[in-house]
Amino acid sequence: VSEKKELIIGLVKNAVKDFAVPSVTEFARFHDPYLVLVSCILSLRTKDKVTVERANALFAKAKSPQEMLGISSERIAKIIYPVGFYHTKAEVIRNLSKIIIRDYKSKVPDTREDLLKIKGIGPKTAALVLGLGFNIPAICVDTHVHRVSNRLGWVVTKRPEDTEGALEKIIPKKYWIGLNTWFVAFGQHICMPVSPYCSNCPIEKHCLKKGVLKSR
Ligand code: SF4
Repeated sequence: VSEKKELIIGLVKNAVKDFAVPSVTEFARFHDPYLVLVSCILSLRTKDKVTVERANALFAKAKSPQEMLGISSERIAKIIYPVGFYHTKAEVIRNLSKIIIRDYKSKVPDTREDLLKIKGIGPKTAALVLGLGFNIPAICVDTHVHRVSNRLGWVVTKRPEDTEGALEKIIPKKYWIGLNTWFVAFGQHICMPVSPYCSNCPIEKHCLKKGVLKSR
């Protein structure tokens, strides 16, 4: 079973190699968990291009929790506009910076448990910070990973929160960190929410197409 999954993951990885990587993956190259964390907050409900642009603008002013506290939340909101919920996110970013300084010696914590204690960090963000920020295996399940895994028939879950645990049981650990990057790009370009390109899909013969009502 696991060999077949490896084959499918390999085909997906190959199919997306020329597509742009998801916005947060862009920031993984700095190997700085704080930058991964902040860009992840910005990316929620925001287009990739806007996330990358505004995150770069923000990091030009502040790259650490201390530097972030040197900027007011009004100013942060102005810098990150037009990301979704920019006012709330500015508050969240300042607050989590405060908590990281106060409770974690200015370093982003590296356990899921501690990350989830911080207001504004949910399971998706925690998994990305662990994987892309610390290189600790974690599966980040967003809407694309959730949808594709269910269509394939790998999992039968209603909510992305349930998909994470279900995938952990069936996907070899070495793919956990990369899975989000590959499946997000795959979900944006091939296995889209409405009318996926099944006729042009490299894994069609391995897919149960569960819940697909219309495809091209
Ligand atoms: S065959 Fe269709 S539903 Fe299945 S993974 Fe490919 S695009 Fe998605």
